[in-house]
Amino acid sequence: MTLGQHLVAVLETGARVATYKLAVLVALLEFCVEHVPEDHDAEVSVDLDDLSARVIALYWRQVRDFDGHYLRQSSNKVAKIPDAVRDLASSTRSHGREIPLDIAARRDPDAYRRTVATVKLVLAQQPLFRLQRVPGRSATAAFLFDDSWLSDKASARTIQDHGNCIVLFPGVCFALARLSALLKPALLIAWVDDVRRMNSYLSETVPDLEGHLFGSDRVALQRPREVLTEAFGDRCFYCATRLGPAAHVDHVLPWSRVGIDGLTNLVLACPRCNTSKSQLLPDRAHVDRALDRGRAVLDELAARIEWPSQFDRVRTSARGLYASQPVGSPVWRAPQDIVSLRLDVSWLTSTDLLS
Ligand SMILES: [Zn+2]
Repeated sequence: MTLGQHLVAVLETGARVATYKLAVLVALLEFCVEHVPEDHDAEVSVDLDDLSARVIALYWRQVRDFDGHYLRQSSNKVAKIPDAVRDLASSTRSHGREIPLDIAARRDPDAYRRTVATVKLVLAQQPLFRLQRVPGRSATAAFLFDDSWLSDKASARTIQDHGNCIVLFPGVCFALARLSALLKPALLIAWVDDVRRMNSYLSETVPDLEGHLFGSDRVALQRPREVLTEAFGDRCFYCATRLGPAAHVDHVLPWSRVGIDGLTNLVLACPRCNTSKSQLLPDRAHVDRALDRGRAVLDELAARIEWPSQFDRVRTSARGLYASQPVGSPVWRAPQDIVSLRLDVSWLTSTDLLS
């Protein structure tokens, strides 16, 4: 079986007890996009604190009340991961207002560290341990990473003894990065289905459950909008049209591919550019221009509105996205100007040129 088939099998195996497997897979895909190795066949270590932080980020907005309810993410009474994330959110909230996770982590580093430790232990005991063991099927060989040391009894000590990481088999990181554009949407759809099933009082017509779980528009983007207008002017980042009240805040690297809300990944766009760009990979020149606004400038603006900047994440994610997408993938340059991804030597290693 190919890696993709294995992962689809994971998705298809009956009713999940919790959304953790989906969360850990989405987190793993994002990690892989940001860590595509020069040598595509290399083993890659995934630091479990990093992975836990990504899982926390995924649940961060989901643990807000929806329609007056705290949504269940598990069919068990206790859901350790969302509960821990929700505790962190309520202890760091300011004036009743939710704040970005990065800011919460800075505001109360001890509470954040404790949350990471809690989540990491649950990941080791549950989804990471079970991910490659499909119930009801004969044992398949591990296909992502060696999980022989993981168990439902794994302790903080066990994790430490194994270097606080899982090691992706040769080639897996590159393959997952390449598959992420296909797999991530499928995982998010499965996630919405699971949450609907676990919260059966939600009617079919409930307003925008998907938007609540994953919508980037639900982040209060008002503060970034103001500071971007002030610093870079009231014009569309892509076509320079004057904006006025019609300004959209656009994620240069699409939110659906890498969930980066940091200021470095945000620009103002006109509705026409924003809508036509949608989830497409932007032309590399756009990403370069976004980065060329300058790390110091972006960091300073972000600090001013207590917002993450995430300059390095944007840079490494862009590198990973272009390096892992197949040549010929659509690339957005402007409305009605969508081209095919070309082989760009600056992103590839010499081995690629030979093959
Ligand atoms: Zn425009």
